[in-house]
Amino acid sequence: MVFPQKGKKKGLYSAVGRAILKVQLYTVRQNACTAVYEVMKMGMPTIEKQIKDFVLTECHQEKVGIACIERFNSSPKGMHPTDFLPGCQSVIMFCTRLPDGAVNAALRTYEDRNFRVHGQYGMFGYVGAPNYNLLWAAYRLARYIEKNTGAIAMPMTAGPTHGSGMLSMRHCAVAAGLGQFGWCSIVLTPEFGPRNRFGGVLTTLKLKPDPMMDGKRLCDYEKCHVCEKVCPTGAIPPYKPGQERVVDFGEGHIERYSAINWTKCKIACEGEYKDFNFNGDYDLMDPIMENPIDEEFVPTQMFRTKAENVYHNFIQHQTSWKCGNCLQYCPLGGWKERFHDTGVSNVNVNQYIDHYPDVDMDVYNGEEEGL
Ligand code: SF4
Ligand code: SF4
Repeated sequence: MVFPQKGKKKGLYSAVGRAILKVQLYTVRQNACTAVYEVMKMGMPTIEKQIKDFVLTECHQEKVGIACIERFNSSPKGMHPTDFLPGCQSVIMFCTRLPDGAVNAALRTYEDRNFRVHGQYGMFGYVGAPNYNLLWAAYRLARYIEKNTGAIAMPMTAGPTHGSGMLSMRHCAVAAGLGQFGWCSIVLTPEFGPRNRFGGVLTTLKLKPDPMMDGKRLCDYEKCHVCEKVCPTGAIPPYKPGQERVVDFGEGHIERYSAINWTKCKIACEGEYKDFNFNGDYDLMDPIMENPIDEEFVPTQMFRTKAENVYHNFIQHQTSWKCGNCLQYCPLGGWKERFHDTGVSNVNVNQYIDHYPDVDMDVYNGEEEGL
């Protein structure tokens, strides 16, 4: 540091000296502030942690994970996050657990023909309330990110909207490390099996991604045929090597699930199958079973009234989602506690698992080491 020298005359030189001293003191102060800030920053949670805490507490979600944009390199045209948000760097995904009570209400319809309780499944077990919960979380999180970081954040819909497209929340959830695909195409988590739904936010923030799920597969589709056998319309084909859908997330991470026939699934889910409508007065499935139709053709829409279509197309919030057998009977995610030992179902799904009783059902509870 330069100090003004003693004995020098006051005047121009001493003024210059004082100015230098001021600058030096200012610099020392700035450096001290920076050092204090750096020390404080060390104790501050990262932006990733702040976002995750917000999702788990303020948005009331059960799980959260982050995917980097590179994991979407093999996305089909029009289905890449940057097709929705140019400049997107990260996809933040979260999960709403479906209540067992609401999911099990669907079993009463299918097994007991008690249609009066089925609305509980439609509204709380899959579409209605879960969609709203996810939509609200995405909206809150997008606002939080924009307010606190200045980055752009786009909330994603949690169900199809009328005349619009959406990113596959299932693929995004796998990319964010929240779960793995099951054979039935639903994303399975170690904690809840298939009993969850996913929502998310795209952002231009470059965030540290979470690892994708590695290790043992949750769904052993070569041994377990439960979803395939309980599907009432045959929409889920049996496993045959080379005929499944394959998704490459990069980093050597490949996921597989069945080449599900979405038209057949839609027929059951929308009640155009005798087991899923009140009076059995219409049934599209029988002729279709004999003459399989093109997957693109969606005849169910022809049977809907205008009013029903309004409900149907408004983020799937209708209370009458009819099927879901693949989700309800899947043995993953707390099999014994939630299903097998409770007497809630009369269907012995063990008959659909190869080599049972060799299959340790604890594996399906996520209790085995490494799950
Ligand atoms: S929801 Fe029903 S019809 Fe659709 S794939 Fe699952 S079991 Fe089959
Ligand atoms: S029912 Fe079986 S095959 Fe189907 S997703 Fe669940 S674990 Fe996989």
